[in-house]
Amino acid sequence: MRIPVVAANWKMFKTTHEALAYVRELGSLVKGFSGVEIVVAPPFTALLTAAEAARNTPIGIAAQNMSAEKEGAFTGEVSATMIKDAGATYVILGHSERRKLFGETDELVNRKVHAALAAELVPIVCVGETLEERDAGRTLEVLDRQVRDGLAGLSAEQVAGLIIAYEPVWAIGTGRNATPEQADEAHRHIRTRLREWFGEAAADGCRIQYGGSVKPDNIGALIALPDVDGALVGGASLQVNSFFDIIRGALAR
Ligand code: PEP
Repeated sequence: MRIPVVAANWKMFKTTHEALAYVRELGSLVKGFSGVEIVVAPPFTALLTAAEAARNTPIGIAAQNMSAEKEGAFTGEVSATMIKDAGATYVILGHSERRKLFGETDELVNRKVHAALAAELVPIVCVGETLEERDAGRTLEVLDRQVRDGLAGLSAEQVAGLIIAYEPVWAIGTGRNATPEQADEAHRHIRTRLREWFGEAAADGCRIQYGGSVKPDNIGALIALPDVDGALVGGASLQVNSFFDIIRGALAR
C-alpha cells in the first residue's frame, strides 16, 4: 500500500519569517499524524528556517528546483548537496513553470533527477500536457516522452522510491482542475508505462501525485482514485488552514 504524499509548492512566495510562522502552525496541526506524508517546498532562502521549524514534526521539506551540476562556476545556481545541507529531503524537478519559463528540457530534468538521487534527495518529477497538446489528442504521447526521458537510466529501485507529479499544465493556477476521469486515465497510463519499462516493483512503489488547482473541496474525489497517491498543491497551499484541510482529505484514502 502506497502512503499518499501531499506537498505544498509555495513557488516564489513567503519570506523566512512567514515560512517560520507557517511551518510552526502546520507542525502543531499535524502533530502525531501518520498515514500521509506531508511536504512543504519553500523558496531556497527559507529552506533552512523551514527545515529547522519542521524538526520533530511529520513535515518534510522540499526544494522547488536545483542545479544538475555538482558545484562550480554557475552563478545563481544551487546544488543538490546545498539543498540537502539546508535540511531538504525532497526536490521538485521539471515543474511546468521551469519547463515553460526557463526552458528546461526532459534531458535536463533527467540530469537533475540523477543528481538528486546521488545526493539522496527524493525527486518529485513533474510531467503534464499543455491544453494545446490535450486538444490535439496528444496527452498520453507527451506523458510517455516526459516519463521515459525524465527517468532514463534509473534502476527499478530508484523509480520505486521517487514521486511523479502529474500536473496538466492547463489546470495549474487556473482554478480548472482535471476531472477525476481525466486524472484517472493519466495516472493509470503512467503506472502502466512504469510497469512496462521498470517492472512490477517500480510501478507499485512509485507514488504518482495529482497537481492542478487542488483544493479542500476536490481532494476527496481525486484521492479516491486507485492510482492517485497524493497531491502537489500550489495556490491552496499558501494558507496553512486550506493546506491542512487538503492533508486531512488525503487521509481518507
Ligand atoms: C503547482 O504549481 O504545482 C500547482 C499545482 O499549482 P496550483 O495548485 O495553484 O494549480
